[in-house]
Parts: sequence; C-alpha cells; structure tokens
Amino acid sequence: MNNKPLTILNGTEVAKEHEQILSTKISELSTKPHLVIIQVGNNPASTKYIQYKKLFATRVGATVTHTQYEDNITENDLVKNINSFSSDASVHGIIVQLPLPKTIRPWIILDAIDPKKDVDGMTSFNLRHVYENNEIILPATTKGIFTLLSNYNISLDGKNVVVVGRSSLVGKPTALASINRNATVTICHSHTKDLASITKSADILIVAIGQPNLIKEEYIKENCVIVDVGITVGEDNKVSGDVLLSSISEKADAISPVPGGVGPMTIVSLFENLLQAYNLRD
Ligand code: NDP
Repeated sequence: MNNKPLTILNGTEVAKEHEQILSTKISELSTKPHLVIIQVGNNPASTKYIQYKKLFATRVGATVTHTQYEDNITENDLVKNINSFSSDASVHGIIVQLPLPKTIRPWIILDAIDPKKDVDGMTSFNLRHVYENNEIILPATTKGIFTLLSNYNISLDGKNVVVVGRSSLVGKPTALASINRNATVTICHSHTKDLASITKSADILIVAIGQPNLIKEEYIKENCVIVDVGITVGEDNKVSGDVLLSSISEKADAISPVPGGVGPMTIVSLFENLLQAYNLRD
C-alpha cells in the first residue's frame, strides 16, 4: 500500500487558470480569434461538445461560427466548403467535429483544412510534425494531458508510459508525443493479451478506451500516475471514466478524475491552439 495521499490532477482548476491567461491575451488583440466549427449531421454528442466550445469561446472572447451540413453532403462539396474557410483571412481556426458519417473519409476532409488553421492538430501536416518530433500544433486532448501533467511537475522523461487505446484522435498522437518527451512507450488496444501485465509496468498510465471503470487496482503498479481520458455517459447521465478511482486510490500517486480531469484541459487546449493559429496567420 502507498503511504502518500492520492493527488488529484485537478483539470477543472488548471483549466481555469489557463482560461484566465487566455482571456487576458485575447483581450489585448486587435481582432478576435475566429473559430469555424463544421458539423456534418446531427450526432447529439457532437452537438453537446460544440455547445461547450461555443460557451468557452464566449468566456474567453473568441468568435465561433458553427456551420452544419446535412449528413448526405458529398466529400467534394464538404472539401470545397472547407477550402473556402481555409482561404478566408477572417477565419483563424477550423475544426471538423468528429465523427463524420461513415460515407465520408475523415482524412480527405481534415486535409482540406489549412494546417495553420488546424486547431485540432489532425491534418497530415501537423501529425507528421508530431511524428518527426517537430511539433507545431498538437491535438487538443494530447496537449491537455501534457499541460495537466506539467502543472503538477510530472515529467515524462525516462518514464515507462503505457497508453491504452490506439485511436487516431487520442491514443496514437498521445503515444507519439510521449516518445517526443523522452518516455519509453507501450501502446495497448482491444487485442492486447493480458492487459494488466502491461499496464502494471507503467510509471504513467494513460487510458483512453471508453470502457467505464475497467482499470482497477490489479492493473496498476504502486506509486504510478494515471491519466483517465475516457468519458462514458450512462443512462442515468452519470459520467464515468475508464478507471475505478475508489479501487486505485491507495496504490497510485496521482490520477486525473472523470469528470474534472482531461475534459476541461482539452477544451482550454483547443483555444490555446486557436490563439497559436491566430499568431501564425499570414
Ligand atoms: P475510440 O473508440 O476511437 O478508440 C478506443 C480505443 O480503445 C481503441 O483503440 C480500442 O482498441 C481500445 N479499447 C477498447 N476497449 C478496450 C479494452 N477492453 N482493452 C484495451 N483497449 C480497448 O475512442 P477515442 O480514442 O476517440 O476515445 C476514447 C475515450 O476517450 C472515449 O471514452 C472518449 O469519449 C474519450 N475522449 C475524451 C476526451 C476528453 O477530452 N477527455 C477527448 C476525446 C475522447 P481497438 O483499436 O483494438 O478497437
């Protein structure tokens, strides 16, 4: 049993501090940073996330244009519309809210975004820079994870980092960016055999799978740091992470809770990326 009390990596608090700094920086600009959010179809979770982004934008003084298309829009038409936002000098950031309908190939659409306006860090250009350890704009969740850890002086250098989840949105970019921060990285996924034997080797365990409470005491090593990225909303509207906090509390050193951990860090990171994109504009 770990004698140290569990540190809660309080994303709500850290995000508030970053929000304050962001608001001050934006208030000093001559024009407001302008974010375009593109939604295809009517996915209710996407609509909710967009609503959060709009509210956040209002608080920090950014402008958001939310453009919604029918889910039968063609790839070509969507690309054309994104191209026009990409070449519009009054637009500083563009997000395509994922997931897209199955008929649309996400990479074709994402690559229509001018990389300088790619505040989600999901274009091939920006991902290649992560791949080459020459990061420009990091995907917002990945950036949020590192900002949270660094606020608690938790370094990745020389650590064994295990990332559970290999999505293009979270798992893969987080694993690559952890390598860039000199961690030794293992990636696990649904085909991983004996997951617990691998997660137990982690100094820092990052879990992004969307399987509520899967990670328990027997999956972790003593004194580890856990970043719980998962968000599952139950039928009772209760939000659960991928880690059962009550089970790990006497063994781990620190954990980012759900809610109140990586979620708020993701949104503030997105708007930090928007400010960076504003500053990168031609
Ligand atoms: P995806 O569904 O795209 O990917 C989930 C990943 O988890 C896959 O790689 C899958 O493996 C793996 N996985 C699923 N079940 C298991 C299991 N039992 N054991 C090991 N690996 C497993 O999800 P995302 O990456 O988009 O999101 C992951 C979670 O993070 C979700 O809960 C999502 O809501 C949340 N999220 C939170 C954000 C935040 O800001 N806090 C932002 C984005 C996402 P395989 O590849 O083999 O299928």
